Amino acid sequence: MAEHFNHYPLKHFAGIVADCMGIPLTDSFAPGIRWISDILKTRLCGTADRAVLYHADAVGQYIWQQYTDLFAPVYAHTAMAIPFLSTVESVTPVAHASMYTGLDPAGHGIQTYVRPQLTCATLYDILLGMGKKPAIVAQTDSTFLHIFSGRSMPYYECANAVEIQEKALELIASDEFDLISIHTFEYDNAAHAYGPESREALNAVAMEAEGFHRLAEAMEAYAGLHRTLLSYSPDHGQHPIPGGRGAHGSKTNEDMNILHFFGTAGRAG
Ligand SMILES: [Zn+2]
Repeated sequence: MAEHFNHYPLKHFAGIVADCMGIPLTDSFAPGIRWISDILKTRLCGTADRAVLYHADAVGQYIWQQYTDLFAPVYAHTAMAIPFLSTVESVTPVAHASMYTGLDPAGHGIQTYVRPQLTCATLYDILLGMGKKPAIVAQTDSTFLHIFSGRSMPYYECANAVEIQEKALELIASDEFDLISIHTFEYDNAAHAYGPESREALNAVAMEAEGFHRLAEAMEAYAGLHRTLLSYSPDHGQHPIPGGRGAHGSKTNEDMNILHFFGTAGRAG
C-alpha cells in the first residue's frame, strides 16, 4: 500500500500563529496558511492578543486515528484539526526549530539531533522586537530550553507535566504574557520506553490532553478580556521497534504525519 504523507510542512506554524495575532513576520519565515488563520480570526472577531501553544511531544497522527477518544479534552477547546508533515529528520530540535523559525531544516541549520542556540530569527524574537512578552514552560532539559535560549524572556523549567501545568496556570493567571509555549514529553518518554501504543504511552497522551484542557479552561476565564489562540501541536510521531520500544527520526508515515489542533477563546470564540 502506498504511503500517504500530509501536505503542510511544519514551517508554516509560526506564520499561522503570527497571522492570527496580526503580527508581521520577516521574509525569512514561511507564510502562514491564510484559510486557517481566516477561520480562526472569524471565530475571534479579530486578531488574538494572547496565544497558548501546547506542544505534546511525539504524538503521531495514527495515535489519533486509533485512539480518537483520548483527544476529547482537546476537541472540547479547538475548532480545527490540521494535518502537518514533520521535518527530516523527524526529531524534536529539527521540528521545533522549523515551527518557530518558519524555515526548512537547511535554513535554520538544525538537521539532526543537535541543540545549539538558534541565531536566526524566531517567533519569539519577532514578539520581543514588538515589545510583547513571550514565555516558555518546559520539562527539564527540553529542546526549547536549548535552541530558543538566550532571549530576554523567561524560561521555566519543570520536572514533569503536572508541574508544567501548575506553572502555566500561574502564568496565565498573572495575565502578563502575550504568548506562552508549553513543551511536555511524557508521551515521548513512555513511548520510547514501552512502545507508542503501550498502556503507559496512551496514559501519557490522556494526561497531556487533560493538561491542555485545563490550560484552555483557564484562558476561557479571560474570555471577556482577551482573544486567545490555542493550539495543541506535536512535533513528530513515533514508530514501534523490536523489544516493545519506540523510536522516531525516520521518514515513515508514523514519524512524519502529525495533527495540530487550533482553537480560540474569547469574544466570539
Ligand atoms: Zn519530539
